[in-house]
Amino acid sequence: MSIDEGTEKLIKVIALKNAIEHGGKAQLDAVISKLMGSRPELRAKIKQIVADMSALVREVNSMTLEAQRALMADLAPEQGSKEKEKEKERHDASQPHLPPLEGAVGGQVVTRFPPEPNGYPHIGHAKAAIIDEEYARMYSGRLVLRFDDTNPLKERAEYYDAIREGLEWLGVKPDLEKNTSDDISLLHSYGRKLIEAGGAYVCTCSTDRIHDLRGKGLPCECRSESADILERTDKIFGGSYRQNEAIIRFKGDMSDPNTAMRDPTLFRIIEGNHPLLGDKVTLWPTYDFAAPIEDSHDGVTHAMRTKEYELRNELYFAILDRLQLRKPRLLEFSRLEFDGLPVSKRKITPLVQEGILSGWDDPRLPTLAALRRRGFVPQAIRRFVLSLGLTLADTKPPFETLEAFNRKIIDPLCMRLYFVPDPVEVKVLNVTPAKAVLKNHPVLDLGSRTVGVYDSVYISGKDAEGLKAGDVLRLMELYNIRISSTADLKSGSKSDPDSSESAYSPEKHEPREQKTASAPSVIVAEYAGNEVVQSMPKVQWVAKGDEVPFKVLVPKELYVGEEYNKNSLEVIQGFAESFISTLKRGTEIQLVRFGFCSIDSSNSAILTHR
Ligand SMILES: [Zn+2]
Repeated sequence: MSIDEGTEKLIKVIALKNAIEHGGKAQLDAVISKLMGSRPELRAKIKQIVADMSALVREVNSMTLEAQRALMADLAPEQGSKEKEKEKERHDASQPHLPPLEGAVGGQVVTRFPPEPNGYPHIGHAKAAIIDEEYARMYSGRLVLRFDDTNPLKERAEYYDAIREGLEWLGVKPDLEKNTSDDISLLHSYGRKLIEAGGAYVCTCSTDRIHDLRGKGLPCECRSESADILERTDKIFGGSYRQNEAIIRFKGDMSDPNTAMRDPTLFRIIEGNHPLLGDKVTLWPTYDFAAPIEDSHDGVTHAMRTKEYELRNELYFAILDRLQLRKPRLLEFSRLEFDGLPVSKRKITPLVQEGILSGWDDPRLPTLAALRRRGFVPQAIRRFVLSLGLTLADTKPPFETLEAFNRKIIDPLCMRLYFVPDPVEVKVLNVTPAKAVLKNHPVLDLGSRTVGVYDSVYISGKDAEGLKAGDVLRLMELYNIRISSTADLKSGSKSDPDSSESAYSPEKHEPREQKTASAPSVIVAEYAGNEVVQSMPKVQWVAKGDEVPFKVLVPKELYVGEEYNKNSLEVIQGFAESFISTLKRGTEIQLVRFGFCSIDSSNSAILTHR
């Protein structure tokens, strides 16, 4: 190590604090910036110590959150208790939103989050997982993560991982992880038991006929044919039927006004390759059959699910009744979805497959991977979900509410940088070359950067518009200028009207030709002192010579009504300070007078929100 013990301890404490605040993972960037803020003399040595810092951050990140908290309490007891207070605050603040659970006994509550590994987790999953976890914690109970994997045609190994990764990012920590497919033998034996008890039967009718009779409320012959029931049962469990030749149906009531009770399917044959079990199993339980048995078997006391399952609650309890199994309580909440940001795979998958979206983390999507890439922090999602509580109303909350939670958290942490869209050059006469020291944050000590300014800067096309000779404005943190003559801005500085790209990839797409930068239009101004005057317009700028072409992707609604929005991704081109290209992917910054952005590549960022 090229650092002394004291510095090492300080780095550890900073890394631990950062990790605890970010679900267990510290960001090297943030740790460096914090260290430079509190020990400015280390700036000169940054190159020598960065490897050690990186190793320490890795070490911290390899620990569990609990271990991090414990070490933090050990190294910096005062910080540790602050963390505890914060944690307490988080829970206190969350409680008013979640009503008490009926029948909950402290220490005995078990909730479960049962995602199907058939896609990438989205904001709707986040809501369910967070509510399940909050309730488990509220009553010092347990949370079970159960992959509901009983359809080999839809499930893939990568989706289990994507869900795990999403939960880890959200800071949701299950006490137990399992798969419904682990219990396939158990589910088969309950299926057989139910048939033997007269609660279910094997139906060999065609799909069309089943559908037709269900609509008419009439039973088929299979229901009453008792003669070969045992033969049929042996055949279906023995694997003698092929796909679509037979199903197992619940013996409900074919004339029940609740159509969910009209002999629903409990098992069907699917000849596919299951991500965990391969082709060993072909008789797969439906969600309707697996959910109540798994919930009961896993000791779940409170099972929460979205409201669209309401009609199937009766079936859930009927199955448990007939099998004489313990009944969990069922609770409902509304689905979470945003206007214009569909979570439906029917709407998203084709766009990903056709390459219209850059992937499942395209910033226009409501997937957790996309929200993360776009710059949302997990704490904001948690606070947002808890603010919604357990509402049953199907109103879609405005996306702006989530943005407001996020802004509140990231605003005090983000470095401020300058970016000028549609840049226009301003040549300043009568000025001596200067070195501007720009603060990385107006209030907090996040360090500063030094930019050499000779005599020309770029300002944004919008700020340049309408300027006339005699106007005085302040270049932020630099000096004031008085306009001598304006350029013909009409010809060069207008933004490209065709600036929306339907698909992009930050790696492949080079920034477009900077028409404006090479435009001959130059505004001429003269130095007008350095006094800060409240009423003077203040604009951000980029020094000529320090500029890098930079683009910001602005995600918009993906769908307008039922139509894919061709203008769902606006690309804004401009110049940024060269410093921006040193920032790592995923760094959250605020582009002054523009918005909060997440760095996506060395020459692009994604607008998180204004
Ligand atoms: Zn039948």
